[in-house]
Amino acid sequence: MELGLHGKIALISGSTAGIGLAIAAALAKEGAAVFVNGRTPGRVDQAVARLNAGQPAIEARGVAADLSTTQGVAQLASRLPAVDILVNNLGIFEPKNFEDISDADWLRLFETNVLSGVRLSRLYLPQMKRKNWGRIIYISSESALQIPVEMVHYGMTKTAQLAVARGLAETLTGTGITVNSVLPGPTRSEGVEQFVQDYARHSGVDAQEAERQFFKTARPSSIIQRFETVEEIAAMVTFVASEKASAVTGASLRVDGGVVRSIA
Ligand code: NAD
Repeated sequence: MELGLHGKIALISGSTAGIGLAIAAALAKEGAAVFVNGRTPGRVDQAVARLNAGQPAIEARGVAADLSTTQGVAQLASRLPAVDILVNNLGIFEPKNFEDISDADWLRLFETNVLSGVRLSRLYLPQMKRKNWGRIIYISSESALQIPVEMVHYGMTKTAQLAVARGLAETLTGTGITVNSVLPGPTRSEGVEQFVQDYARHSGVDAQEAERQFFKTARPSSIIQRFETVEEIAAMVTFVASEKASAVTGASLRVDGGVVRSIA
């Protein structure tokens, strides 16, 4: 399938590792010029080098900025004033008992996971409107629909992303700009890999058994009963970013291995 991504410029926030890096790789492979982002120039350069390694056809560049802040978004604006595809991937999580989540924690997660995407959408929308073409994709989570008791504040931010994406899509009625959310389930990114290894060590089992136990006890509704790969998430995002997905908008698209027990 020709996705029509050649010549498109894509920014993926928080993409020096994990799902974001896989999205950058997948979009670049389809011919988009991708910009990866992280907070430090060193990590950004490494990610760009990984993407470009031995692949002359790939066009990857980087921009270091802390996109959880207004200053960071302003820095980015001066370096990258226009994009065709914006993937709001930046997101942080931290397990914490509800009673221990401070006001500062609530605000930090809201600013990083929700406001970063709001600010970036506000930055790039005027120029997308001028072209009458654009793709804005929020990387939310199954946690938007099944709020994790071990991090209610994270769940709140992921639900808020769905509201922002749906509302924004409706403001763009009749245009060529689509806005969607993609909801991954438990996915084997670096943070999750570390979690599995810690769990395995703690329980005295190997990593494979740790994964089996995690799904049996913590995610029994997962139909695939394994962590997703970052490439599985990137494949959905690449399609949604493409010309072919022109009728997909205002949607919450689950790539969650069936963990959300809903048929709607
Ligand atoms: P990750 O922790 O592996 O990678 C996060 C990236 O963001 C890193 O490149 C990090 O350097 C960068 N980053 C962190 N803070 C930043 C900041 N302030 N400014 C710029 N860059 C920053 O993350 P991941 O697990 O790949 O998750 C990516 C997205 O997917 C998040 O929105 C997360 O909520 C969502 N998600 C992840 C999972 C999962 O199981 N991994 C499941 C559902 C949803």
